[in-house]
Amino acid sequence: MPSGSFIFDSGSRWMRVGSADRFIPMVKWDCCHVRQQIWGCDPLQGYTMTEVRNAMSVDVEDYFQVSAFERYVDRDDWDNRECRVERNVDRILELFERHQVKATFFTLGWMAQRYPQMLQRMVTAGHEIASHGWSHVRVTQQDRDAFRSDVIRTKALLEDVSGREVIGYRAASYSIGAENIWALDVLQETGHRYSSSIYPIKHDLYGMPDAPRFAFRPFNDDFFEFPVTTVKIGGKNLPCGGGGWFRLIPYQGMRWALRRVNNADGESAIFYFHPWEIDPDQPRQSGLDTKTRFRHYLNLERMESRLDRLLADFRWGRMDEVLYWPRVGDSAEPFARVG
Ligand SMILES: [Zn+2]
Repeated sequence: MPSGSFIFDSGSRWMRVGSADRFIPMVKWDCCHVRQQIWGCDPLQGYTMTEVRNAMSVDVEDYFQVSAFERYVDRDDWDNRECRVERNVDRILELFERHQVKATFFTLGWMAQRYPQMLQRMVTAGHEIASHGWSHVRVTQQDRDAFRSDVIRTKALLEDVSGREVIGYRAASYSIGAENIWALDVLQETGHRYSSSIYPIKHDLYGMPDAPRFAFRPFNDDFFEFPVTTVKIGGKNLPCGGGGWFRLIPYQGMRWALRRVNNADGESAIFYFHPWEIDPDQPRQSGLDTKTRFRHYLNLERMESRLDRLLADFRWGRMDEVLYWPRVGDSAEPFARVG
């Protein structure tokens, strides 16, 4: 096994196999420091509830750039499409403003190049800018060098345009998993401090079902992976971190799942959505297969009102402020050695 690669054991521990055959296992990070004041007991759930701050995120890409449309829309044709991202992002900024919520915008380099003022509006409103790669190519379709160039180029432009350091990265379609876990190495080497690119579920397009469900350090330093949120039911990880699932499952079900993560797991949830999901009037793509059409267009008209409820029902903040900075400098023991 090459230096710097990983193996994964059945006890949910990550091990780095170093050049000198040293094994450094990861133990799950204890999130007790993000638990906040106790505010009561939920009679339905029967255990003490804690009010936990969650991380809100937006993946800034337009309707024609989603991975599920790759077969139908050529990247060379992107510039000929009606781009609706600016008006949708402005509506999201208003929505966040109404609820006094700060969030993280994982933004494509392609977007930053064309809409620099949109990024400046995000920054002015107090939101975090993070990277979603240049043009939404899944990491599974890139080799190490191509991935490295992509994330360096994107980070540089986002920092140029926003005037802020960019520390976070999210892979297109959560495309980091067991097969290409080297991508975390590259992110760390290129100055990123956290990734939110692993979805610990089984899915036809993405997922790494055996990955830890919550924040972990893949290396012996301050780089973190923050997996998108799942709820464990009957021994299975089920998605509750947003996207199409949020439009499919009744709102009460999603709220129950997120409360369970906050109260039973005692962890912050990570939620994500896209600007095109609040845009039921977006141009319809022809020729889609049934599954893709169903997933993409389902309940778009209900999305904004659901988000409205979600923002009111939970406490939210930026990824860096909720998840990253509270962990850095903490001298708790995140690591343990095996003999
Ligand atoms: Zn995306």
